[in-house]
Amino acid sequence: MSHSVSQNDQRPRVVVAEDEEAIRDNLTRMLRIEGFDVAAAANGKEALALIREHLPALILSDVMMPEMDGHGLLDAVRDDPLTAAIPFVFLTAKADHGDMRSGMNRGADDYLVKPFQRDELLAAVRARLARRETQSQASQRLQSEAQRLIHFDSLTDLPNRTLLLERVRAASHQAMRSQSRLALIALGLDGLSRVNDSLGHESGDRVLREVADRLFRRVNQAMFVSEYDGVARLAGDQFAVLLEGFGDDAYLESFCADLLAGIAAPYHENGQELFLTACAGAALLGEGADLPEDLMRNADAALSHAKQAGPGTLRFFAAEMNERAVRRLRLHNDLHKALERGELALHYQPQVDIATRRIVGFEALMRWQHAELGFVSPAEFIPVAEESDIIVPIGAWALGEACRQAKAWLDAGLGPLRMAVNLSARQFSTNGLVATVAGALEQSGLPPAALELEITESIAMQGVERTLAILTELKALGLALAMDDFGTGYSSLSYLKRFPLDALKVDQSFVRNITTDAGDAAITRAVVAMAHSFGMIVIAEGVETKDHFEFLAGLGCEDAQGYYFSKPVPAAAAGELLAKGSF
Ligand code: C2E
Ligand code: MG
Ligand code: MG
Repeated sequence: MSHSVSQNDQRPRVVVAEDEEAIRDNLTRMLRIEGFDVAAAANGKEALALIREHLPALILSDVMMPEMDGHGLLDAVRDDPLTAAIPFVFLTAKADHGDMRSGMNRGADDYLVKPFQRDELLAAVRARLARRETQSQASQRLQSEAQRLIHFDSLTDLPNRTLLLERVRAASHQAMRSQSRLALIALGLDGLSRVNDSLGHESGDRVLREVADRLFRRVNQAMFVSEYDGVARLAGDQFAVLLEGFGDDAYLESFCADLLAGIAAPYHENGQELFLTACAGAALLGEGADLPEDLMRNADAALSHAKQAGPGTLRFFAAEMNERAVRRLRLHNDLHKALERGELALHYQPQVDIATRRIVGFEALMRWQHAELGFVSPAEFIPVAEESDIIVPIGAWALGEACRQAKAWLDAGLGPLRMAVNLSARQFSTNGLVATVAGALEQSGLPPAALELEITESIAMQGVERTLAILTELKALGLALAMDDFGTGYSSLSYLKRFPLDALKVDQSFVRNITTDAGDAAITRAVVAMAHSFGMIVIAEGVETKDHFEFLAGLGCEDAQGYYFSKPVPAAAAGELLAKGSF
């Protein structure tokens, strides 16, 4: 075996398989002189090892050889996916036509009849190599087509999310090196489904292409264009723009506003004028985003905030958005364990009869002493609990605990009193609420009349008939019902009249300005009158000052609750207030 192959050689490599030494050496010499890198073997088996090792550009093989003949070698080469495509040329004895044909049938690319001339040999070799070159160009074209499909959106020809992420990656390295600024702007169209529904998907597609064009043109007119700047289409109605090296926030803001204005200009579709708006969320590298993925996530978060704010809105990512989301997730996870770990407690805030200043009841308000986060406000964790079913066991616990405490005070001779417990809309939509309430009363032995459930206007959103049915069942247990936070919700007076309510709690936002804001005073006056006409009493929330108290007394409110008397306090302190009896 004689071969010389160097790894870094750029010369085309040829493997020669020939058992006749004279022919083999001759071939090798001729090819080397012509600039080929030749490895030669004396039989098919050796040749196969060389082919697998070097993956040559061409194989020249004799047919009749010991160990493994040329046909065996061809079969082995074609069977291995790594070598199957290598051009294979047979060297056959003169006029041996049978050999020739069976070689071609087995998949040889060409044959040379021995003895051959130098020119003949080189012409055959070059022809095979040239063909191989064309094939590899074709396969490269296929590869780049696949690459294009992986990286570009076929409707608009814009880069897709995958390519954008790659560009963001490259651009953020560049931006960090050059200390320049990098912004990612996520754009969401507001009414694309409306276009699709009314004019059909083809129109929707044309509009999308037009949006892509407008964005593309605007970006290419940008004052600072870097190599990474560009537009991408992320999903159906979502686009993104990457902007690098711009000067200040004001430029970025006006740039975003321009993008939105561009999209908002009319479209002409089927002879119709059509209007579309978009929201944008922009995020900057480095401001809570150290990684390209952060930048994408932040821009998305800003976009969803923009969308919440309404069509056509632009929002910049604020670090708090992310922190808030992270904290919510944390609370959500930990709430599951809060109950069993005994981290929840109830505090009690007195409700005072305005005429006598006597304590007539308490509102039970939940408190969460989180092991690591410390005290978490119910204003924060109740909405989180309401997003999942966790509110159901937690709410049931509060109900049971409040009833038990109220019964204990009654047994200690500190009554009569009314214990108010908050119910969330989610508890209301779960079957079994009435049974839970009945169970809490029964287990504690609290007289039903001593329990008041506070509901909010949002429960009515579940359907007035269903709500009415449940409220009626609850009333049948003998307890009282109060409408909480009145004035902040949907405030539909029509259902207020139909619901079997005993009390209406005027929200603290009205009470806060009652002595200074004529409007709030007028609303409160009207609410009190209306509640009375429906046979309800009025409890004022958030009574903080003597002025509040006196004003509310003047309006004819029955009860008051607020810091003027006491903040919500733990059970022991509430018991002491109750023992005193009045303020
Ligand atoms: P809410 O039912 O409207 O409770 C009144 C809130 O106003 C309480 O806040 C109370 O501490 C606060 N407050 C009372 N007096 C004053 C005052 O004079 N000035 C001011 N500025 N605030 C006053 P808290 O305890 O943080 O509870 C917030 C909300 O959390 C409650 O609003 C209620 O919607 C919800 N919540 C509390 N406990 C529970 C519960 O056990 N179940 C359910 N479903 N919700 C609860
Ligand atoms: Mg309440
Ligand atoms: Mg309230």
